[in-house]
Amino acid sequence: MSAEPLRVPLLTRRATLVGLAAAAICGAARVSRAGPALRTSPKVSVLVVGGTMMNGDHFADSVMAVMREHYAGCRKVALVLHPSHPTERDKVEARMQKAFAQLGVPEAESLHRRDDVGAMALLRTADAIFVGGGETFVLLAELHRTGQLALIRERVLAGVPFGGSSAGANVAGLIIGTTNDFPTAEVPSREALGFLPVTINPHHPLPEQKADFDSRAGKIRGYLRFNPTETVLALANASVVRLHAGRAVLAAGYGWIYSATGMRALQVGEPLPELGR
Ligand code: ASP
Repeated sequence: MSAEPLRVPLLTRRATLVGLAAAAICGAARVSRAGPALRTSPKVSVLVVGGTMMNGDHFADSVMAVMREHYAGCRKVALVLHPSHPTERDKVEARMQKAFAQLGVPEAESLHRRDDVGAMALLRTADAIFVGGGETFVLLAELHRTGQLALIRERVLAGVPFGGSSAGANVAGLIIGTTNDFPTAEVPSREALGFLPVTINPHHPLPEQKADFDSRAGKIRGYLRFNPTETVLALANASVVRLHAGRAVLAAGYGWIYSATGMRALQVGEPLPELGR
């Protein structure tokens, strides 16, 4: 056994103990050395959207200003469209190319154009990353399978701007916990990118949609009863949280932070110290 210390982040300590016991019983003493943890650096620039951010083939007016600021000066964005169905990725890529061109980012290429090695090369050379919406578990499975999870982390910690909408926002959190999606694909772990110390719930209904709002809030509270050390960032459609230069704010729309002790509705422009550095 190597002398390297096991890395057991807070979130998984109990799960790891259960895992160790199970491994001892089964004789399969394989314990992952990494695990869900906050991945941070002063250079991290991360933007998450609660979904529904497009208006045809450009970004909706409500998110345009913050998207423009986030990707200012970027020349080539790597599009991670794994959550879209394979038959739709070409079309989504074409729409995103137009939307990014309108922001002033001349090149946008989807990883699906390349094989696994080529996709890694694209992630290494692009100066921006955007992850689209769709099936969260399909996205997470592919990020784990290809090693893109670790590479995206590395690039973003080095200062490459990251954006994600809906499923793409979900993976910016510590783990996938409060997605609205069914587990469409098997994943080796729910561990996500870890740029924000939360789990994310996109497409959160607005208070005026009372029945839907109450039902979503009840679901998230139920999750937190079983996972009381976690925090949930819920975002409505076309709502944006941006973490930049160590400071996180709700940049557009509507958001809520849920914890075991309650829920707080966020105001646009309000600093979010629980998400900052
Ligand atoms: N399926 C959603 C999306 O990407 C993700 C979610 O609702 O959790 O649009």
